[in-house]
Amino acid sequence: MPTKTVATINSTGRQAASFIRAASAVGWHVKAQIRSNEGLVAEELADLPNVEFIEGDLTGPDKKRLLKELFTNVKIAFINTTHWGDEVAIGKACADAAKKAGVAHFIYSSMPDHSTFGRGWRALPMWSAKFAIENYVRQLGIPATFVYTGIYNNNFSSLPYPLFQMELQNDGGFVWQAPFHLDDPLPWLDAEHDVGPALLQIFKMGPNHWKGQRVTLAFEKLTPIQCCARFARGVGRPVNYVHGPIKIQLPIPSGYQEQLDILAETLGDKRAPYFPGLEYPREGRSIWEGYRGIEEYAREVFPIEEAANGLRWMDEPGASTPSEVVDDTNGSRPMTPSGIPTPVRFSGAYTPRSHPEGLDRDFFVGST
Ligand code: NAD
Repeated sequence: MPTKTVATINSTGRQAASFIRAASAVGWHVKAQIRSNEGLVAEELADLPNVEFIEGDLTGPDKKRLLKELFTNVKIAFINTTHWGDEVAIGKACADAAKKAGVAHFIYSSMPDHSTFGRGWRALPMWSAKFAIENYVRQLGIPATFVYTGIYNNNFSSLPYPLFQMELQNDGGFVWQAPFHLDDPLPWLDAEHDVGPALLQIFKMGPNHWKGQRVTLAFEKLTPIQCCARFARGVGRPVNYVHGPIKIQLPIPSGYQEQLDILAETLGDKRAPYFPGLEYPREGRSIWEGYRGIEEYAREVFPIEEAANGLRWMDEPGASTPSEVVDDTNGSRPMTPSGIPTPVRFSGAYTPRSHPEGLDRDFFVGST
């Protein structure tokens, strides 16, 4: 008999799916809203014990009914909204439904609004929508915790997506070009690996401990140079950073273009901190110490995700990692011996492109 019932939305997304795996594994009952039960992630979640799908689209007219059904007999919830549809309206509707149901602990996945710091920074629109929802949740007075999720390790792809492309070079190495200053620290997170266990711990400690708090879910604080050094060690090839403009090599929706333009200005040109005023990674690590760092990601997961995306560079001999790669971050925590190429035999790996809509021309899964 499950001990707790928890509600999630956008359940095939990387954050919610990570949490659902962890919650199911400890015997909790999960009521999981999904748009469609097709796709690798939905199929995987459907096979987990105690996961009940509430199927329907929150962007459509069915929103109210869906949320009523989702929150029936639910006392805890993890809500991660996305930019599909009217994000603020959906976030507020979730909070209203949670309040009505008497939810005792509501965790919302928020992001900062840089315009609120009085420093002349412009708000990143896809982030400030989340901050507006955070403020609404605070006003409603539901016992709530706000997690701020760092940059996902698996944003990196050699495909020509903007901002986090690891561009394959003729010599077998990679180049990451982005507008972040070489020396500015960035928050890193392996969303699929670490969101779930961290949230589980926050729920277990409960609202008395975490009510009203912001918790940064970022387990490594690395400059772009440090990130590339670790990525190079993991993937076993040179990885160089270029401080430069965001390359747009595919048609992207105008809203995403605006997000990227303001990101380049606010975080790049003006060098605003990614998460102004928030501490990391100490708090995140104190909640969950088994995190997967970028080096381990690059060694064990990146080649598999790339292969699942149809890329084959991992089968070719790559240039060996230069021995002079310097890492000044007090060492890392490799989990497996480095320099051993990851065998790519497993074809069932899923990536953001494994969502049914992942191959649509305008599908960008929110790489920031
Ligand atoms: P995801 O990017 O892994 O997947 C997107 C999800 O949105 C899928 O489950 C998809 O089915 C769903 N979706 C909902 N409505 C849809 C619609 N109308 N059309 C197509 N797909 C729809 O999800 P995630 O990473 O768990 O959450 C995304 C959110 O996380 C975004 O708002 C993003 O800004 C935020 N975020 C991302 C990062 C990052 O580094 N990538 C960091 C912090 C926050």
